[in-house]
Amino acid sequence: MKVPFVDLVSQYKGIRNQILPVMENIMGKAQFIMGEDVTLFEQEFAQFCTSKYAIGVDSGTSALELALLAFEIGAGDEVITVANTFIATTLAISATGATPVLVDINHDTYNIDVEKIENAISERTRAIMPVHLYGQPADMDAILNIAKKHELLVIEDACQAHGAKYKGALAGSMGNAAAFSFYPGKNLGAFGDGGMVVTNDAEIADKIKLLRDYGQKEKYHHLIKGYNRRLDTLQAGVLRTKLSYLNEWNESRRRHASRYNELLQNSHATLPVNADFAESVYHLYVIRVPNRNDMLSYLQQNGISVGIHYPIPIHLQPAYADLGYQKGDFPVTERYADEILSLPMFPELNDDQITYTTNVLKEFR
Ligand SMILES: *Cc1c(COP(=O)(O)O)cnc(C)c1O
Repeated sequence: MKVPFVDLVSQYKGIRNQILPVMENIMGKAQFIMGEDVTLFEQEFAQFCTSKYAIGVDSGTSALELALLAFEIGAGDEVITVANTFIATTLAISATGATPVLVDINHDTYNIDVEKIENAISERTRAIMPVHLYGQPADMDAILNIAKKHELLVIEDACQAHGAKYKGALAGSMGNAAAFSFYPGKNLGAFGDGGMVVTNDAEIADKIKLLRDYGQKEKYHHLIKGYNRRLDTLQAGVLRTKLSYLNEWNESRRRHASRYNELLQNSHATLPVNADFAESVYHLYVIRVPNRNDMLSYLQQNGISVGIHYPIPIHLQPAYADLGYQKGDFPVTERYADEILSLPMFPELNDDQITYTTNVLKEFR
């Protein structure tokens, strides 16, 4: 049997009849840039996140960067984030001229260890950027309390957490602003790149609208030095259609996760911990296993596609040698990087594929 890691082809086949007329309509009107689907998708996504404003941009990385820029974070400032994340989190911070300051992860949730945040605060700290990794929200109450005490901003990296909840509140609705990615493999994915900033702050929303569109509100009247970071109309059309399936797809992911949990109960694997404050959307289903690299090869030899998210922590990446961190600085992140393994996870995954995957995993010696 072959088990893919994600299966975007079968997702497409399921919605093809709805997507094609949407794209045909946009192409027929040739409204490729800032067409009405962009505005409509922004309204619908803001509503989905229970946020006041949503601003479509060209990627999740841009969403993070423009949110920071809108709050005038840049050179000389520090932004606290986590060592176990996709590098886009820190690249967005670096792109503004600010410096990422890293914190280790919690043993159970693999998200930022809130006990270690205050140690990382300096006079230059302006913001905390928690990452809701693998679809599970970080401990937001603790983070918001620290931010309040030290007068810091909170900008959520919700790029893996569309629809996830923290004590009932939607990911992206709790900080000063939040960023989402619509990279094709995310829980809500475009047919290319795309992203969104959500916020309840009207001034910040207006600033991001300027930043994404050459600093203009009116054509050829440039109020600030902006960028070209707009969300394509075609992508907005695709995303509007897919948004109506998101809750259902997330529910399927949760069902697959419980099935994995059930079947792997008496295995060597350490299973993901769903914190009692969190409702995860399982962007990824990540276990820890001894002899991870051998296990990975064994699964692949048996037709099962798996991943590692992420094999090299940010502070050990050559790109971030300039931060001056050493091996050993973030021991939990480093240890887990050698043990984590992401199993196939996508809404269309079926029970035979899950059973086969867990059987192969359990027979590995
Ligand atoms: C995907 C992702 C991003 C970046 O999103 P892009 O749309 O690929 O630019 C940022 N942070 C995290 C945690 C992500 O998973």
